[in-house]
Amino acid sequence: MTAEVDRAVRAAAAAAPGWRHVASFDRGRVLMAVARRLVAEIDELARIECAETGKPPALAEAEIRGAAEYFEFYASLVHLPAGDVLDVRPDLHVYTVREPFGVVGVITPWNLPLNQAARAVAPALAAGNVVVVKPAESTSGTTVALARLAAEEGLPAGVLTVVAGPGATVGTAIVEHPLVRKVAFTGSVPVGQAIGRIAAERILPLTLELGGKSANIVFADADLAFAATEAVRAFTTNAGQVCSSGTRLLVERSIHDEFVAAVAAAAARAEVGPMITDKQFATVRHYFEVAAAEGAKAVVGGHVAGGRHVEPTVYTGVTNDMAIAREEIFGPVLVVIPFDTEAEAVEIANDSDYGLVGGVFTADIGRAFRVAHAIEAGQVYVNSWSTQSVQMPFGGHKASGYGREKGIEALNHYSHVKSISVRIA
Ligand code: NAD
Repeated sequence: MTAEVDRAVRAAAAAAPGWRHVASFDRGRVLMAVARRLVAEIDELARIECAETGKPPALAEAEIRGAAEYFEFYASLVHLPAGDVLDVRPDLHVYTVREPFGVVGVITPWNLPLNQAARAVAPALAAGNVVVVKPAESTSGTTVALARLAAEEGLPAGVLTVVAGPGATVGTAIVEHPLVRKVAFTGSVPVGQAIGRIAAERILPLTLELGGKSANIVFADADLAFAATEAVRAFTTNAGQVCSSGTRLLVERSIHDEFVAAVAAAAARAEVGPMITDKQFATVRHYFEVAAAEGAKAVVGGHVAGGRHVEPTVYTGVTNDMAIAREEIFGPVLVVIPFDTEAEAVEIANDSDYGLVGGVFTADIGRAFRVAHAIEAGQVYVNSWSTQSVQMPFGGHKASGYGREKGIEALNHYSHVKSISVRIA
């Protein structure tokens, strides 16, 4: 296993100077061709993804279109980040350039397999890096397909390599390899910490996309019917196996009962798909027991359904110090917590080890901005949930991680800046 990692990393390192010096237009053309090819192969890619995850075909197709968008977006940005000219002294010409790291290791989870691989691979390649990817054990198929399609579309040998296998061996070997100069990891906090310990020894730059326990704040003046459907979408999409799920619903006390009834009704109708792994299915069942032990009340759900399905579940009688309000469950499970004032809502939202995203629903424009600015998270949605776009930088505060994926911003995390001073007089 680790010998295979060594072979892949050495092949990548050998390919790095060539890829870095491909003219930017040509690099962009290859990435654009990969984008088109992903769309052209969407049926086959969705078939693989559905077979490996069990997710509904429409969701898999949407995620694959999103994967193609990453390549399309970064193909159009290959000329960035551009450098600056700095006005230092008349006898000096001082400027900055952005340079790729070289070999970037990408380690991805199983919840949105191809989409999350593309999220890191596309900007890394656009910035001139070469990439070795390790997908999650149970969902490697579409990442392998991506590398094959990219090679067929003209990506040179060694520029994008996939090494499949267990995290403890293959993943660790990538992080430890001396020729790997940057790692982008998406997954759990404990593994992010383990990678961070190795990175500390190696002084290795990381992007860490870890979990979340994101809060959705609903004020009494909001469009409550719409907010209820959004609140349900926020925690049931992909059966809640999304790091940016809205799993804590903070509701102004005066509308609490009415709003919970609307959410429960919409949740009972939601089609959520199965839990993707047996381990994750067991985790959600475990939290049903924790919720019962903590005295929370399931107003809907709280049970497993057939296969690896669980019922969309909404708990009331929850306080923010309970385990079900603090720990990421990664299933279609929502906790509802009432609040009385704007300040209290913000305080509860930020009283979390995590800080990935957040939402606020209100008709008061001033409050919308105040709360959006006060929430400790990398993305905030006002009067909608999760306007996901490749253009919007994405990443965490606190235990949700650091670094940013997506947007022009991601290019800064796949390159470093060099200042050059030239004496001209
Ligand atoms: P995980 O962190 O164990 O696995 C993620 C990836 O890391 C996989 O490719 C895995 O093989 C690899 N890995 C595992 N151990 C490693 C190690 N020691 N060194 C290097 N790589 C290693 O996550 P999981 O078990 O697949 O999921 C468990 C939890 O992770 C979920 O319940 C959820 O909390 C979180 N998660 C978060 C996201 C996200 O997008 N932020 C996505 C999936 C899972």
